Order: sequence, then C-alpha cells, then structure tokens
Amino acid sequence: MIQQVQTLFSKIGNAWLEMVAPRHCSICEQWFETVPHGVSEFICNRCLDSLTPAPYPDALLNDLIKHFPGDTLSISNAYSRYLVSPSEERSILNAIHKLKYQGFSRLGTEFGREVGKTVEFFSRETYTAIVPVPIHHARFRERGYNQAELIADGISSVLTLPVWKDVIKRSRYTKTQTTFSATKRTQNVQGAFAPYKNSNRLYNANILVVDDVLTTGSTVNTIGQFLLEHGARRIDVATVAKAM
Ligand SMILES: [Zn+2]
Repeated sequence: MIQQVQTLFSKIGNAWLEMVAPRHCSICEQWFETVPHGVSEFICNRCLDSLTPAPYPDALLNDLIKHFPGDTLSISNAYSRYLVSPSEERSILNAIHKLKYQGFSRLGTEFGREVGKTVEFFSRETYTAIVPVPIHHARFRERGYNQAELIADGISSVLTLPVWKDVIKRSRYTKTQTTFSATKRTQNVQGAFAPYKNSNRLYNANILVVDDVLTTGSTVNTIGQFLLEHGARRIDVATVAKAM
C-alpha cells in the first residue's frame, strides 16, 4: 500500500515537474536539456530553428481584409510571431495545444514575451492597454486559466502596458471553431461578448487585443467591433501564431 502511494505521488510529482520544468520538447516530444530561459525551456533548439516566422503585419492585415471587406473590419493592424503551415509536422500548434489543454501555463507567458518583442519591433502605436480575448467562466473553471491572459502578461512585461481583464467578458459558451468556415466562425461568436466591470475605461483607448492563434480573425474582429462600440479609438491585434 505504502509502495503504491509512493508511486502515485512520484507520478504526480513527475507530471508537475514536466509542467514547470519540462524535460520533453512541447513540439517533438523528445527529451532535451532545458535551458531555464524563455521558450527554450519548453521547445528544443531543433524545433525552435524549424519554426517559420509569421508574415509581416501588412500581409496579415491584407489577409484580414479578404475575410472582412469594406467597413466590417474593426482591426487596424495585426502582429503575430509564428506561422502555422499545414504541411509542417512539427508545428507550433503542438505547443499551443499544451498551453491550452495540458496545463503548460508558464509557456503562455514565455510566448507572450516573444509576441511582445515582435510588436515592439513593428508597431509605432502607443497603446493604452492590452485586452486578452476572454474565455467563458465555465471554461476558465475547467482549465484553471485563460491562455490569452498569460500571453498578455508576457507581452505586458516587454511593452510595460497594463492588461485589462475586466472590460469585456464572454457571456455565451461558444463551440470550438477549429473546423468552421469564416462565415460560420463569425456567426458563432456574434453576441458572445458583454461589457464587464470596468468597460468605461475603454473611452478613447488604443487597444492591443491578444489571442493565441489568428485564423480568419472572426473572434478578434467581433471583439474589436465591441470595443469600438464601447468607446475605444483603435484596435490592433497580436497573436502567438497565424494559421492559414
Ligand atoms: Zn523539439
């Protein structure tokens, strides 16, 4: 019995260690010598070297314009760190999956720092605050954290900006959108957001909206519209990865 309890504790301990100081790469799963510094603590050098940088902001914005023509686009500029190419076997999505569903929360902050450096390099805007894409409280309870908030915290540590987690909330539990078309994605998130405690702060604010992956942009565009309707002046968006 004692032996079994010891084994159980050792298993829990190992799982915990893997999360706080992983010994396996979050992308290729191979054992590697962690470097206690930045994303290198979670992703091996071979995988890091193989990651494709995301397109420049102009190209990201052009892609958004394709999905939201005319004045339906609420976003003025977009920044992303890595590109998810469909052919890639060792994809950044493996690591993002670990961040979202397997408790690798600290990876969120490290990714955020990378995104922060990207925004710092390209953007000439002076932002008032960062607004992470909110998740429904039921999903927060289930997951224990909101990955977009962790990414926002990482960006904040580079750009020294406040993170506003209390201006918008997700009022409806929306379906996972992975297999949806652009139109279906927009329908799925329409009306899913509501003002939160301090939404009055938004007046005249220049906001950087943060999420993990930018796909068609339907979620961030809906949030952008919402923030503009509630007084914000300009919306830019920053994500860890851009998916096609
Ligand atoms: Zn690897």
